[in-house]
Amino acid sequence: MTRLAIAMDLGTSGFRAQAIDLTSYEIISTAITTRHPLPGANVIDHIHFALEIGADVASSIVIRAVNNVIGRLHISADKVDRLAICGNPIQLSLFQGIEIRDLAYAGKRKLEALGVVPPKREATVLAAKNIPNLNLPGECDVIIPPAVRHEIGADALAMMIQTKMLEKEETSLTTDYGTNAEMALFHDGQVFTGSTAAGPALEGQQITCGMLAVPGAISNLNPEPPHHRVIVLNTEMFAAQGPLVNLKDGTTIEEGDICPVGITGTGTVAIMEQAMAVNLLSIPRINTVDTELRLGEDICFTEEDLVEAGKAIGSVRAGHITLCHEAGITLEDIRTAYMSGASGTYVDPLKAQKLGMVPSHVKTIYQVGNTSLAMARDLVMDMKKLDIMSDIANTLKKTHCMFASSKTFEKAYILEISYWTEGMPMSHYRKFLKRYGLPDLLPVEGMPEIVRTVKRDIDDLGRMGLTTITDIGKHAEISAEGCVACMECAEECPENAISVMEDSEPVSLVLEQSLCNGVACRRCERACPEKVFDLNRFFIK
Ligand code: SF4
Ligand code: SF4
Repeated sequence: MTRLAIAMDLGTSGFRAQAIDLTSYEIISTAITTRHPLPGANVIDHIHFALEIGADVASSIVIRAVNNVIGRLHISADKVDRLAICGNPIQLSLFQGIEIRDLAYAGKRKLEALGVVPPKREATVLAAKNIPNLNLPGECDVIIPPAVRHEIGADALAMMIQTKMLEKEETSLTTDYGTNAEMALFHDGQVFTGSTAAGPALEGQQITCGMLAVPGAISNLNPEPPHHRVIVLNTEMFAAQGPLVNLKDGTTIEEGDICPVGITGTGTVAIMEQAMAVNLLSIPRINTVDTELRLGEDICFTEEDLVEAGKAIGSVRAGHITLCHEAGITLEDIRTAYMSGASGTYVDPLKAQKLGMVPSHVKTIYQVGNTSLAMARDLVMDMKKLDIMSDIANTLKKTHCMFASSKTFEKAYILEISYWTEGMPMSHYRKFLKRYGLPDLLPVEGMPEIVRTVKRDIDDLGRMGLTTITDIGKHAEISAEGCVACMECAEECPENAISVMEDSEPVSLVLEQSLCNGVACRRCERACPEKVFDLNRFFIK
């Protein structure tokens, strides 16, 4: 009888999974979600939600979404013998339903006062019956890889192992350009790791017309003077020719093979770089009449998007500066850069380098795909890989740099914010770096060799192909006593997450949980003139 396994990447911006035949190791199918099921767009939002609404509620939403993904893989869940989960420590802890408060508070005293005993987060194999409500056979092995520290987990280890960077002698840097940008610098036999909450812009979220790297997303923009060719991901997740457009007004000069729906993170990078090249953009301004770039009739890129993307790029570059400072080297000492994750795979690496996402003097750039999912695949095929991950995790604990408490990172990030949001000239930026004794930022030199080790971020989608899941979240409906159906809450919501049920008595309100920006927002509550809107009720229902 065919036995099956599932490899799953619990990313901060969405989940990705593959079903695998355990006899032939053939990939059967792939499913990806277009969002994370929890409200909010980054790990801070997810932790905030879990602390405020309840870790048990957050865990149950994550498990429900995992079950949803398993159900879309076109396999019989009762034949699954193994599930390997890769992701950052927050996602893995929510999946396991274990303590997360140690990930929220760095101070030892605070944790002691709260009576928190931090879990070890070592590699482990559990029976599925120990994960409440997981829709898999009770004896199915659930493989959980180890974490290094708070914010450096299995996904970062996956990045280092899958790129094989630790097996070479050269100074190299690997970065997962996601909502949480994990990075590792390898120099002189030592590894320096860090992780920065870059925000979701590099994955196409919190951008006016943004979307994840799914079919229909603008992934690149190429010059065809005097206009620009939009490049769009097709249903097979390959880059296809979209329309030729005039960026100033969105006029379509020539139809393409595929219509764009929105802009993903790599598209954002390309739009910024291309607009700068033709002087339509000078940080932090867009030099068009309506201060927007237009990629068609309904797709725009605004100055707010520019600032959002700039902050994400800035936090990545501040991380690179910090790791080089820790290692005592300059950015020009880095010979090889590895780019992972969907953004790292689909982005035009030369455009990314021009914006500062890749060190300026690298000789080779590798684009390596979704290493987290690749690691999960390796784990279901060979559980001994867990030992390799554990060995590396133990070594890295000594040289991990926590950016949240690093003065170097703080200084570099403040300079990045000044550059991206206030337009501080690069010459001033470099003077400050010199004054602080930090590595310099030199202009790009030479043309690096580009090596794409995969055709797309998930290279083999399997014989049954890709399923894109858009309904990952939960619709929660509550009746609100005293509600006068004025719609103020719905109108105030920036994500259109709220609707009011027509003709319901008492009035019923509906919240699409995965669209919500999280409990730090609460604009809906503040907008309610009757003071009857209670966001928490939608989640604890
Ligand atoms: S307004 Fe309310 S529902 Fe909308 S994103 Fe903010 S918190 Fe969520
Ligand atoms: S703002 Fe308040 S009163 Fe108005 S629809 Fe929303 S919950 Fe009801």
